[in-house]
Amino acid sequence: MKFFITAGPTREPIDPVRYLSNRSSGKMGYAIAEAAIEAGHEVVLISGPVDIDRPRGGAVISVSTSDEMFAAVHEHARGCDVLVMCAAVADYKPKQVSKNKIKKRDANVSLELVPTRDILASLPKQDRHYVVVGFAAETENVEANAQKKLQEKNCDLIVANDVSRADSGMESDENEVTILFRDGEKKKISCAPKKIVARELVKIFENVCEKRLTKKIA
Ligand code: C5P
Repeated sequence: MKFFITAGPTREPIDPVRYLSNRSSGKMGYAIAEAAIEAGHEVVLISGPVDIDRPRGGAVISVSTSDEMFAAVHEHARGCDVLVMCAAVADYKPKQVSKNKIKKRDANVSLELVPTRDILASLPKQDRHYVVVGFAAETENVEANAQKKLQEKNCDLIVANDVSRADSGMESDENEVTILFRDGEKKKISCAPKKIVARELVKIFENVCEKRLTKKIA
């Protein structure tokens, strides 16, 4: 199968030296890429700026802004079997990017932000031949919020995790996730190194993809 995986944060420039970003390390997305390669799949990783070695045996498309990630996903998604949207795409970007470095002054400064485009929500809703996996990093009402995203963003399944916990989630080497499926099924992967969680996730994605292929043939 061909896996297409987004990972890491995006950077939204304010001026030539400053940007808005988030705490995503990219570890979960890279671990999924490695697990998929290990399982014999073809992998393309669309990565925001991270400090991790490239997975051996996979292709990497490096991007920085949410607009670059949007363009890369739309350029390549059609050719994959499983699209894993693991990246922590910035939700807002500065309305204007200053051409020159903004000077320090002795006064408050306001920054006007506009929403970025939601890549996941922008994917075709019907006649998709690939499986779409969303991620939901939540700090409260984790499952309810993830369920809402599963519906609103029209994912085939969504991986929810509680990022308020210090021992798992963002930046951590461990994770504990709950996977929600469209038919209401739910699966939990208990707290484990991201590498182990990634292997379990890849098996689940393979299953959903195979089921879809069998349905098509039948
Ligand atoms: O709404 P929220 O950002 O929590 O949704 C998370 C999911 O949506 C993730 O799968 C993330 O990769 C995706 N997303 C996106 N484009 C955005 C924001 C989030 O594809 N602009």
